[in-house]
Amino acid sequence: MSTDGKSPLPPMDWPDFQPGWVWLTGAGPGDPGLLTLHGLNALRQADVIVYDALVDERLLGWARTGALIEYAGKRGGKPSPKQRDISLRLVELARSGKRVLRLKGGDPFVFGRGGEEALSLVEAGVPFRIIPGVTAGVGGLAYAGIPVTHRDVNQSVTFLTGHDQNGLAPDRIDWDAIGRGSPVIVMYMAMKHLDQIAAKLIASGRNAAEPVAIVCNASLPDQQVLETTLSRAAADVAASGLTPPALVVVGGVVPLRQALDWRDGLADASVLDAIGRRTRDAG
Ligand code: SAH
Repeated sequence: MSTDGKSPLPPMDWPDFQPGWVWLTGAGPGDPGLLTLHGLNALRQADVIVYDALVDERLLGWARTGALIEYAGKRGGKPSPKQRDISLRLVELARSGKRVLRLKGGDPFVFGRGGEEALSLVEAGVPFRIIPGVTAGVGGLAYAGIPVTHRDVNQSVTFLTGHDQNGLAPDRIDWDAIGRGSPVIVMYMAMKHLDQIAAKLIASGRNAAEPVAIVCNASLPDQQVLETTLSRAAADVAASGLTPPALVVVGGVVPLRQALDWRDGLADASVLDAIGRRTRDAG
């Protein structure tokens, strides 16, 4: 394996990146340390890296010296390249005998069109591997001190996208069913239509005062978190000037961050009383 003399991976039988293959890889939500070891193994061997807008560029510095680096995201307000063009490019690079690393933010199969790209590879007969990543809706929220499940709060969690492929509020989502059936809702790409989404959830019977957190640039040094409620969320976001990428999380796990926000220093244990979370047998 050509790993370029950079610091070795821990001993294991790491897969060899064969020429002509595409490795569809999740980069994690931002903090480069959230890349998996398989992801690092891929970076160390790839001949070409095709990366997306939300991939932290510090990761690219871990690539093999001489690797070609191609950007496939939206830049400077210009429209992003068509999905079809990206898929064709991956096929073209693989057919030219390159080891092609397709690096995508978070997990490639979570609102990341990784499935579409993989299907194009299947259609073209290009062999590929999927390297999962830490998705923003789980790992990013952990960086804000929000667990997506907590035993006495929720036994299910729903992940959804706040807009469809045309940028419109998603109309195939059954908001009534989600409002009634999902105690915790984690939304990707939901900033633009937050007013409509919150109104639909309230119309489904959710409490207007239900806690909501908006987590921008999760896991990055400029992470920002806004705590609000369903009825105030859209106005508070507008007033705050917060911009995407952001996650919106609705539900009873949000207040836990008052105790679990590990990044800003240890909370005083008295906060547990405030949020009603002191364990019965603890002092
Ligand atoms: N495949 C990615 C999601 C891509 S969709 C994943 O698994 O995480 C892009 C959306 O993901 C953004 O609009 C935002 O809602 C969310 N997202 C990705 N990275 C984020 C980050 N660092 N902070 C907050 N939200 C993020």
